[in-house]
Amino acid sequence: MVARVIPVDPFDLVVLGATGDLAQRKIFPALCRRLADGQMPAEGRIIGAARSAMTPAEFKAMVAESLKVDHGAAPISAADRAAFLTAIDYVAVDARSDEGWGALAGMLRPDVTRAFYFSVAPALFGDLAQRVTEHGLATPETRIVVEKPFGHDLETARALNAILARHFTEAQIYRIDHYLGKETVQNLMAVRFANILFEPLWNARFVDHVQITVAETVGVGGRAEYYDHSGAMRDMVQNHLMQLLCLIAMEPPFNFEPDAVRDEKLKVIRALDPVAQDDIVRGQYGAGPDGPSYGDEVENPQSTTESYIALKVGISNWRWKGTPFYLRTGKRLAARASEIAVIFRDPPHSIFGEDAEWRENVLVIRLQPDEGMTLRVMIKEPGPGGMRLKDVALDMSFAEALGDDMQIPDAYERLIMDVIRGNQTLFMRGDEVEAAWAWSDPVIAGWQDGGARALPYAAGSAGPAAAADLLQRDGRLWREIG
Ligand code: NAP
Repeated sequence: MVARVIPVDPFDLVVLGATGDLAQRKIFPALCRRLADGQMPAEGRIIGAARSAMTPAEFKAMVAESLKVDHGAAPISAADRAAFLTAIDYVAVDARSDEGWGALAGMLRPDVTRAFYFSVAPALFGDLAQRVTEHGLATPETRIVVEKPFGHDLETARALNAILARHFTEAQIYRIDHYLGKETVQNLMAVRFANILFEPLWNARFVDHVQITVAETVGVGGRAEYYDHSGAMRDMVQNHLMQLLCLIAMEPPFNFEPDAVRDEKLKVIRALDPVAQDDIVRGQYGAGPDGPSYGDEVENPQSTTESYIALKVGISNWRWKGTPFYLRTGKRLAARASEIAVIFRDPPHSIFGEDAEWRENVLVIRLQPDEGMTLRVMIKEPGPGGMRLKDVALDMSFAEALGDDMQIPDAYERLIMDVIRGNQTLFMRGDEVEAAWAWSDPVIAGWQDGGARALPYAAGSAGPAAAADLLQRDGRLWREIG
């Protein structure tokens, strides 16, 4: 199957922080693929900007090298690379001075869609917003893209929202959570709202519990300083896992317009119960074959920051009261795996007798690796010998189902094209981000006040043993990681 590609309008996209890791590793390869696919039009132009003094030719050489590196996606051909390099330019600007902004103004075209991607440290978001408007670079239709983290807590998120609101309207601000750009995550909405099959069962009466897992095998790596100041709750749960929970739990929006979808997500966040410290397990990885312990890796052996967290949260609304959501995420775990599992309740009565073997029906939505879905159902075990039951997986790998021609696009490809199209559905609204912090701040304050400690866990394991107890005491089990 070949994807239908509709080109976006001509645009000028200014990538601020163009020499940085994210721009080189994600943003430019994503744009190059969209050009190769015909979605980015020939009139699309990308202007890289950062403090480094560089000629456009030097910058192009830097991007060319990045495009050659295997970032885990399909390789980019030499012809596609060459075509992309003709579409990019470079200018040196400083977010903290007026240097370079006049030159940038001279490079922008008045009659095309204009967007600024703030791929810099969050401390510079306010400076950039101010320079862009003060130098007259923003039209009423200009969009800005803001990277994560969006604040460190409710207070800082509010302050950041207020700074951006001084210069831009909410309709101009695109707060990125790249999880929302993943194909499977969008598919979640299609599965829920384009099929009649699941909706009647999608509530506390039929769903026993939900497990959301984002497991990584890597450690904190080059992000040590940032990570040790944040931890898994701020880095993953407050944003990515929260967004996944919202898409599972939200009511059907009345249409697929951005605010209709975001209104429903916001209602879920507001209905989340506070989390008791007994319902939280925090952990820190020890040394293993792939690297040092967490404390050594962040060069802070006394650190109390969690590299793993598991928690149980309820949702106080009519649909979900009584169905717990178990969330877990961590680094240096047994496998790299992200999935959402909806575990249904047992049938109310077994006609096959007391001894029949039951496994619950489970719908698993895999985000990585091998994006796809599995539905576990009970069938009769084939052959003579009576009615023995067995559970089997109805398995759908998107890559297989959609054929070899179909490349699943990287989240950034989808999200950047949405910015140019002016579609905010997959971006977080300011009030959504604030509500997520309003829920997570007291959770964090609880352990800072002597609540859940960070327990050691072996690198390459499934996390601290106490995480298993969190479910076992409710008569449930985590799904295996990997
Ligand atoms: P980075 O590698 O440190 O790059 C930062 C960029 O900002 C560089 O291009 C730097 O270039 C530029 N810069 C620094 N000071 C500047 C100034 N005063 N004026 C103009 N440009 C300036 O950071 P990154 O990893 O790419 O991260 C960028 C943003 O994305 C951050 O908000 C981060 O939290 C977020 N993010 C990153 C990742 C990732 O995988 N890297 C993932 C999720 C979110 P010069 O030194 O040449 O100015």
